[in-house]
Amino acid sequence: MPRTIVKTHAIVLHTMRMGETSSLVTLYAQECGKLKAMARGARKPKSRFGAALGLMTEVQAVCYVKETRDLQTLSECTLLKPAPDLSQSLERLSFGSAACELVDRLTIEGENNPRLYQCLSGVLHGLAEVEPEQVESLFWYFQLRAAAALGYRPELRQCITCQRELVGPSSWFSAALGGGLCSVCGPGNGVRLAQRSLRFLAVLQGLRTYSKEALPQAPAQRGEIRMALRGFLEYHGGEHSRLRSLDFLDGLNRAALPA
Ligand SMILES: [Zn+2]
Repeated sequence: MPRTIVKTHAIVLHTMRMGETSSLVTLYAQECGKLKAMARGARKPKSRFGAALGLMTEVQAVCYVKETRDLQTLSECTLLKPAPDLSQSLERLSFGSAACELVDRLTIEGENNPRLYQCLSGVLHGLAEVEPEQVESLFWYFQLRAAAALGYRPELRQCITCQRELVGPSSWFSAALGGGLCSVCGPGNGVRLAQRSLRFLAVLQGLRTYSKEALPQAPAQRGEIRMALRGFLEYHGGEHSRLRSLDFLDGLNRAALPA
């Protein structure tokens, strides 16, 4: 079986130590989707990969790819954009990790999705720029965009069952049915989600860019939005899609709740 050389822009999603000096790197590539590759010698002091294999960095990668093999070989990796500076808060850093984890868990190797690549690149750099009160909204926006790029955009303006416009004070949301439900169809079929939360998500879904200027501030009742979006993505991602980075954030949020 001949091997192919792939040269592509990619974002580093995950790295893991392999043996004494190598790393197993998971990349999300603009040209070919998720790619797992062995970077031999990456942890040697004078490695040719240098700082290019840090989490969330954007790189130009050259890989030797063999279709019969699960693990490919990373031949070269040049830094294009350093990882965004998220050191200003643990929350920003955790959302950045969660975005990488989400792309890792919701994709399979070799499926090209340039839209998803753009979403990931957008949220990582957006997280370094938005105001503190916009951070979680930006992550929700990313979740909605990622769901759409993966082919399961939730319906947020009309009842998913009867197509009535969602205007009443009470509404429901169902991950399995794929969106909002009205007060007639909702009971027994979804979880309660305040109309304000649903409208807010619909506004986010309609945004065209990750810009700080366009992003609205999150409403007060964040918990139910958090749960609805997370449940939606985990449902569609299947059994391996539990997002551990979000477990960590949920723990922080619980700790921050007033007694
Ligand atoms: Zn309905």
